[in-house]
Amino acid sequence: MPLDVPRGIMQSTENWIIRLLIYMTIGFTTGYIFQKNVDMYKTLREKDLINDFTGLYNTSKLFPEINNLNQNNEDFCLVFFKIMNLEDISMYVDFGIIKDIIHKSIEDIQEKYEGNDLYSDNYNEYILVLKDYNKIDINKIIKNNLEDVLNAIEINNYSFQLIIKAGVAFSDEDGSEGADLLNKARIAADQGENYESGVYNYDSNLDNERKLYYEISSCILNGIKNKEFYLVYQPIISLETNKISGVEVLARWNRGERQSIGPATFIKIAEETGLIQKITKEVISQLVEQILQWESFGIDIKVSVNITAGELLDDSFREWVRNILNVNNIDRSKLEIEITERVFAKQGEKLNKVLKQLQEKGWFVSIDDYGTGYNTFKNLEEIIANIIKVDKHYIDRIDQKYINNLVKHIIDSVQEMGMTVVAEGVETKEQLLILKELKCNKIQGYYFSKPLIAEDLAEYYKTFDINDYM
Ligand code: C2E
Ligand code: MG
Ligand code: MG
Repeated sequence: MPLDVPRGIMQSTENWIIRLLIYMTIGFTTGYIFQKNVDMYKTLREKDLINDFTGLYNTSKLFPEINNLNQNNEDFCLVFFKIMNLEDISMYVDFGIIKDIIHKSIEDIQEKYEGNDLYSDNYNEYILVLKDYNKIDINKIIKNNLEDVLNAIEINNYSFQLIIKAGVAFSDEDGSEGADLLNKARIAADQGENYESGVYNYDSNLDNERKLYYEISSCILNGIKNKEFYLVYQPIISLETNKISGVEVLARWNRGERQSIGPATFIKIAEETGLIQKITKEVISQLVEQILQWESFGIDIKVSVNITAGELLDDSFREWVRNILNVNNIDRSKLEIEITERVFAKQGEKLNKVLKQLQEKGWFVSIDDYGTGYNTFKNLEEIIANIIKVDKHYIDRIDQKYINNLVKHIIDSVQEMGMTVVAEGVETKEQLLILKELKCNKIQGYYFSKPLIAEDLAEYYKTFDINDYM
């Protein structure tokens, strides 16, 4: 090979070999670097497809796999598993144990469903693609598997009781597009009690429920701003004085032309979405104005307000209530705090502490829906309250001997402890007479009056005569 072509100078063989070697080295190095880059890119791509925490492939891998199944016209179903109480457990044990629980759960699922792929985007959610299944008994099989293995997990000599829900969606029934089917399996799993394992199928009505849920949660704030919430008052009658001793204030939502929604639904959704304090503050603000107006009319009446456990445990919320009453010169003895018995199962200890403090400061506390909690009749003596409201469920059946005895026992025990009993949901004269016989202190229910708007309540108050009802 020449060294300088125009001048015709030839290079030496040595020079030629050295140059050739240099070119070859450059060529090899470039090729090596290129190949390394390709490998690295592949590893990174692969890493993108894996959930770091669970080590399982994620949905970026699942969706193309589902596309393949669809192209091959294969039916399949997605099972969406969710460990419901992993967050709760993580409050008591260290992170290493949580990781072990996750890996053990995954192993269990993989062992039970060998040959089927498992994916995950979140540490407590796993998606199983089942190609071979029998629609008739699939729920039963999953349920048995949950009971057999997944609900009791042993780690480091500790035993963990997991609560797992599974949602099932079928490609031939519920639609075969990956993201849509996964969403349906997820919606399916979102049924039943929060803290109970179970297996559920997707049902298109769930979509409507969910839409309503989102519609309501997104409308609550606007509803408050636009003054769509208003108050009604249900009289509570004392069988000792034969007079109206107070009212319970209940929220209503005027949604105009839109589907009407009762408080049981919007309060529940507001609690779940963290909007409840906004509603309660609106209720109390309107109530304060109402109390001032009633005072100017000479109506002196005690008002029960429903408060949720979360609110009662929130220092800043309690401060807000104290402040609004102080500013408006309303004595706290005018209000009664109603808290449903059901919340005591989970937060009883904390609540009792706060209730005790509140009572010491002169607040009246009422336990609502008494008889609907888990341990109702065991822990009556542990309850810190001034008033027990016996749930309508018992009043409905008070003509039955067993229930009659039970209510009598509640009334006697509650009174012995120095508290007052209110019967909720009294609808008939017979119920009223039985409760009078059992020496129940107070009555609330449609028999006397449904919840009324403020003007109607004022009229009812002025004209009330117990003889009209006896
Ligand atoms: P609750 O506190 O137990 O209120 C009593 C419920 O029973 C009210 O339903 C009342 O209208 C109804 N009721 C009273 N007497 C009778 C009767 O004789 N027969 C029948 N069938 N029902 C009767 P409402 O107003 O629909 O409220 C349902 C629940 O929603 C309330 O149950 C309470 O837990 C909640 N709630 C209502 N307003 C509020 C509020 O402002 N804040 C909070 N946190 N919860 C509220
Ligand atoms: Mg109540
Ligand atoms: Mg109640």
